[in-house]
Amino acid sequence: MNSAQRHEYLTALGLDAWVRRDQPAAALLSRASTETSQELSTVTSLLAPVSPNTAREAGVDWPELRARVAACTRCALSATRTQTVFGVGNQQAEWLIVGEAPGAEEDRQGEPFVGRAGQLLNSMLRAIGLPREQVFIANVLKCRPPGNRDPAANESAECLPYLEQQIALLKPKIMLAVGRIAAQNLLRTDVTLGRLRQQVHRFGHSQVPLVVTYHPAYLLRTPGDKRKAWEDLKFAREVCANV
Ligand code: SF4
Repeated sequence: MNSAQRHEYLTALGLDAWVRRDQPAAALLSRASTETSQELSTVTSLLAPVSPNTAREAGVDWPELRARVAACTRCALSATRTQTVFGVGNQQAEWLIVGEAPGAEEDRQGEPFVGRAGQLLNSMLRAIGLPREQVFIANVLKCRPPGNRDPAANESAECLPYLEQQIALLKPKIMLAVGRIAAQNLLRTDVTLGRLRQQVHRFGHSQVPLVVTYHPAYLLRTPGDKRKAWEDLKFAREVCANV
C-alpha cells in the first residue's frame, strides 16, 4: 500500500486531521511504529485461562468444523438463529479478528461484520495494510442472541471450543478482540475495555497474543474514540511484527 492509499483509509476512519500538511501519512506511520515499539517495552502479559473442550473438536479440518457448527444445537440460540455464522477469511491468515456475536444482518447473510460496522472494520484493517481478504474474522458466538443481547455465560462456554478449533487450524500470529464483550469473554474477565487496551494478553491453550480494541459499531456512535482505536491497531501491528 502506498502512502496515498494509506492516507485515504485513514481519512475513512476520520483520522486525517492528525496528519500535518508537511508530514505525509507514511512518515506518520513510521513515527507511530517507533512510538509503539517504545510502548511494547512496557507491555504486560495476562494469561487467559480459557479451558475449552477442544478435545471434542480435535482432529477436524475446516469443512468438518464448518459442518459441525452449522448443525450445532449445544445452546438455545440454535432455536432462534436464521443460520450459523462460522467466520470468513483467509485460512492462512496471520490475523484473527474476533467480535462478540452475529447481529441481525450477520444472521441474515451468514457472514460476520457486514453493514456499516463491517465497512468501518474493513477501513481500520486497510489502514494498517490488511485487506479484509488477508485476515480471518469470527465471533465468540456463532449464532445471534435474540435482540442483540449480550452472550450468556453458558452460550460462550459452549461456543468457545469452536473458536479454539478455528485457532488450531488457522494458527494465527495475533488475535484482535474487538469490543468489550468479545474481550471480556475471551479473557474471562470483567476488567473494562479501557484497562484491557494497549496490553498483550494471551488466549487459551495456544497462548496466541491477543490485543483489545473498540468495536466498530461503538466507534460509529463515538467517533471521538477512533484515535484510540488507531493506536490499538498500530500496537497490534507491532506486536504481530515481533511474534
Ligand atoms: S451459539 Fe455456538 S454453541 Fe450455541 S448453538 Fe450456536 S454454534 Fe452452537
